[in-house]
Amino acid sequence: MDVIVLGATGSVGRQTAAVIQRHPERLRTLGLAARRDVDTMEALVRELRPRWVVMTDPDAAARLGRRVPPTVAVAAGVEALVDRVAAAPAGTAVVAAMTGFAGLAPTLAAARAGHRVCLANKETLVAAGGLVTAAVAAGGGRLVPVDSEHSAVLQCLGEPPRPFRRIILTCSGGPFRGLTRADLARVGVADALRHPTWRMGAKITVDSATLMNKGLEVLEAHWLFGAPLDAIDVWVHPESLVHSLVEFADGALLAQVGPADMRLPIQLAFSWPERWEADTGRLDLAAVGRLSFEEPDRETFPLLELARQAGRLGGTAPAVLNAANEVAVERFLAGTLRFLDIAALVEAVVTAHDPVPADSLEAVLDADRWARARAAAWGGP
Ligand code: MG
Repeated sequence: MDVIVLGATGSVGRQTAAVIQRHPERLRTLGLAARRDVDTMEALVRELRPRWVVMTDPDAAARLGRRVPPTVAVAAGVEALVDRVAAAPAGTAVVAAMTGFAGLAPTLAAARAGHRVCLANKETLVAAGGLVTAAVAAGGGRLVPVDSEHSAVLQCLGEPPRPFRRIILTCSGGPFRGLTRADLARVGVADALRHPTWRMGAKITVDSATLMNKGLEVLEAHWLFGAPLDAIDVWVHPESLVHSLVEFADGALLAQVGPADMRLPIQLAFSWPERWEADTGRLDLAAVGRLSFEEPDRETFPLLELARQAGRLGGTAPAVLNAANEVAVERFLAGTLRFLDIAALVEAVVTAHDPVPADSLEAVLDADRWARARAAAWGGP
């Protein structure tokens, strides 16, 4: 199988490289794309030997071009990336792992081309789920989740997917589980980046601290599995070993349980419905001893329910929610927004928005731009 990795230098991208190297007889790197991390890309080119690389930042592309063998074609910009993804042989696996909204155009190109879209970028589906699922249907390819929770749901549903009554996404609770709003008024960037179970990029780690990550995952599950929003629940599960559950008509729950290692859902996105060998170790549940579950604290972490409300509003509301959140997280990481104000900002921007149908890339991009400007200008509650 040919593989293209979008966001190759990030956390999921580098773990994807490990999966590709584990299965050289099955997976062959066709192309790699990233924004501007030339050092990591140079190392990946040596490990994976792609035929082409796109750096969306032109300066980074020029620097990389001087450092890799001339047999590797280096190009710059999102348009060049979209062209190369569209031109890849049908059935190429495209791992969509860019951070945030930037992945939308190349992901749509992969979907239209009939590729196997291995989706690690949930923002794409949140902002433009209708467009992406329509493009997948038109292209005749397939959308496979990389997110560990959705990979778990896929496995519980089976192939072909069985009818279900309810999806229950599990949630580690993040670094601030059990804290009150008064506690959260005092937390800083370093506290929010200390995730208890998963090692991930900064944006998703902050989203895990606010529970926005789980809110986005509710919307992601809605699009991936055609589940009504009211049929998607969330349980906090601090051990992060049950990756999600599905409830069926008779009340039976099936859960997927395994080590918390992103290489597993990445590999499954390539192999599904088959399973391949992995070196990620076995889970000794007897040694773990106990698994615990609790309801999320929806008052202390309002973004979880705000995401669901944006999903109910529909149209461009989820795109606005997502864009406002991306800006809020950037401002928090830059030290210009307090932790509790992330939720306040996102709520203010979503409330100010009049949703329109998200039926074209332009409509989604307009809503995204509007929300970013509004979020950047937000001065406080
Ligand atoms: Mg997840």
